Amino acid sequence: MLSKIINKHSTNSPLNLTFIGLGNMGGPMAINLVKAGFNVTVFDLSDTAQQQLAQAGAHTTTSPVEAVKEADVVITMLPAGKHVKSVYLGDANATALTEAGILSHIASTTLVIDSSTIAPADAKLVANVAAAKGIDIIDAPVSGGTAGAEAGTLTFIVGGKENAFQRALPILKIMGKNIFHAGDNGAGQVAKICNNMLLGILMTGTAEAINLGVKNGLDAAVLSEVMLQSSGCNWTLEVYNPYPGIQEKVPASRGYSGGFMTQHMHKDLHLALQTAEDSGAKVPMGTQATTLYDDHNEQYNDKDFSSIMGYFDDSVLKDV
Ligand code: NAD
Repeated sequence: MLSKIINKHSTNSPLNLTFIGLGNMGGPMAINLVKAGFNVTVFDLSDTAQQQLAQAGAHTTTSPVEAVKEADVVITMLPAGKHVKSVYLGDANATALTEAGILSHIASTTLVIDSSTIAPADAKLVANVAAAKGIDIIDAPVSGGTAGAEAGTLTFIVGGKENAFQRALPILKIMGKNIFHAGDNGAGQVAKICNNMLLGILMTGTAEAINLGVKNGLDAAVLSEVMLQSSGCNWTLEVYNPYPGIQEKVPASRGYSGGFMTQHMHKDLHLALQTAEDSGAKVPMGTQATTLYDDHNEQYNDKDFSSIMGYFDDSVLKDV
């Protein structure tokens, strides 16, 4: 039944899933698909990432084109728009399909899911090229962080046609808990960008408030608990406290390693500013958060985005 929903023309044969981009998010997402019993083929530029998936039971390949040859479903989880265009169209700056792009080698029956966070314009470009070849494609960026990726509890925010959304649902449900259909292709990215602009504002605001308390003699843990139970409560206080040692399993308590890298938050805030400029929306708070992350990204681009705590209190970054 699952196979029939996902696979346009078929059959009860096992589904071949290809997963490209096995980083902090894509790695655990792909592992959950292996655990669910799919025949998973993977590709990543990093050998280490490929090896982790091989150990989990996936088939590794040496190029994106090789990876998609037998695919019923292709899923990508790449850093930014240039990587997505490089994989799908064959060139980071492409405006049309080239032979090196995987869309030149995918059957029209294949379902394509891109979960990277990229500009809505890039998502629409790739979707138009896919549509011209009769391929169903959705943008399906996620929220929920690496913990959500590991637990299979991500939120997916989908842009695309209804039939493609319906085909993708059974697979998204394996990796996620909340799945929203935001609109046509690109709409998932718009919603994701709005969410991440708010997250950037919340993270910088939370770090600012904790630092204000600490500088005035409060214990960061006590203040965090007060705000958690008060009107300042937000997601960062609940599950992603930026101050070291307050929550056990967050990046702040392991030298800001892993998690959601500053370079990705930096990218998402600039996507928000560009989207705002294109639409004439006012984003003063988003602009302020972007200014802080512009500065922070120069030195801490590969640290988790909660390391913005160090902008306010540089002692938290002394051993990082
Ligand atoms: P990451 O940098 O950890 O992983 C990206 C992976 O893509 C790397 O393993 C890299 O080697 C691989 N890659 C890059 N170019 C490639 C190519 N041409 N072919 C194959 N592999 C390639 O990033 P991440 O944290 O997993 O994030 C991925 C996407 O998800 C980003 O768009 C990010 O904004 C978004 N996102 C991340 C989080 C998070 O908490 N980390 C949460 C929500 C959304």
